[in-house]
Amino acid sequence: MNSKLMQSAFSVFIKNSKDLIFVKDNNLVYRHASMPFVKMTGKKSLKEVVGHTDSEIFEDKSLAKRYTSDDIRLLNDGKDHIEYIEPITNENGNARYASTSKYILRNDKGEAIGILGITKDITREYMARQRYQQELGYLFELPKDTYAVCYIDVDDWRIISQRRQKILKGTLQECQTIEEMCEYAIESIIEEDGNASEFYSHFTAENLHDIYSSGRRVISFSYERRLSNNSTRWVKNDVNFLTDVDSGHLCIMLSAKDIHDTKTEQQKLIEAAKLDSMTMLLNHEATMDCIKLILKNEHDRQHALFMIDIDNFKDLNDTMGHRFGDEFLIELSREFKKIFRETDVIGRIGGDEFFALMRNISDKEQVEEKAKKLISAIRKTSSKYSKINLSGSVGISIYPDNGETLDDLYQKADSALYEVKGNGKNSFTFA
Ligand code: GH3
Ligand code: MG
Repeated sequence: MNSKLMQSAFSVFIKNSKDLIFVKDNNLVYRHASMPFVKMTGKKSLKEVVGHTDSEIFEDKSLAKRYTSDDIRLLNDGKDHIEYIEPITNENGNARYASTSKYILRNDKGEAIGILGITKDITREYMARQRYQQELGYLFELPKDTYAVCYIDVDDWRIISQRRQKILKGTLQECQTIEEMCEYAIESIIEEDGNASEFYSHFTAENLHDIYSSGRRVISFSYERRLSNNSTRWVKNDVNFLTDVDSGHLCIMLSAKDIHDTKTEQQKLIEAAKLDSMTMLLNHEATMDCIKLILKNEHDRQHALFMIDIDNFKDLNDTMGHRFGDEFLIELSREFKKIFRETDVIGRIGGDEFFALMRNISDKEQVEEKAKKLISAIRKTSSKYSKINLSGSVGISIYPDNGETLDDLYQKADSALYEVKGNGKNSFTFA
């Protein structure tokens, strides 16, 4: 190809590319860049990049330094850097993973005259691979509370691998085929509070593909089942959808966990009307009672009241179905519980609204940290469970600064939440 044609081809390529591409001369001055690269630097136009160096372009000086020293190393070594993974931020300032290659550009004599850099955003693949490796790890070592895991290739319709262990003498029978496994599961179900029978009686490659294409990535349900020693236990199944990294086939990792003790304990509390029967968090009344009691008994301390509401939750119900919405709330509640200490309070006060009291706080930063964790849990849970990304809003009031009674604090947190919703959601604010 002649050089005019090459130049024109490169211009078209760089103009249309979705990747972050740049060309630097050997003084490390930018000579060309793709628009995604320009946006990543925080600049608006190519003109603000071309003719400048990293230290002039990037506000983050340590980042600029890192890029420059990488380039110097590249030119000194004389060897291209191929596909190394690095953290970057996208144009909205969100953390992403990227695969970067940097090539040395040379003249006819073979002398280095510049650098061509290509960075691809691989966040989705990177996270999928990490999740894949994490799930696969269970095949080698079962967690203490897990009866069995079974890794199934949906496209080849076979069990690739399985592992079982005894818990309290009980275990699950080994099955050679998927059909045998489903039959055995259906036979063993005694009582359920999810869609266990429905799931196992419609367990076909076609249905699994349909579920995956609908955007779901995990299905969970629990049921009381008969074990090999004829004892009955409450068990939770998690079905994780994965794409096999090597074959590209749709696969599922099915695990069965023992949840008997928690389940029976929760059952007692539901009967005493303290728990929300869906999420197993405190229900509205019990949440209010607990908070009131803490405010009364620990009136000489500072506490933070969080009011949490999921953003656009209706959209999730509308696209994935109400039942999936329920499952999401259940999973999210488990995550919320992990965020707080045993002695804090977390309850579901209605629909997609949660209330939490963080006891005995020492400073505002600590409270902010918690709010960020809550919002991040909503994002993470929704991306783990489906391809729909949800966010959440949080309003916070502080005892006793914003009020001395629960009514006052409630009202203040509610107004703060209302403010966040009005300002574009996906954030938190103090009353
Ligand atoms: P916003 O960002 O303003 O919060 O919008 P939103 O769509 O989340 O709506 P809002 O918080 O006002 O209402 C909550 C919605 O959550 C209403 C209802 O469709 C849904 N919802 C309430 N309770 C349940 C439940 O138990 N299960 C499911 N799946 N959905 C529920
Ligand atoms: Mg909502």
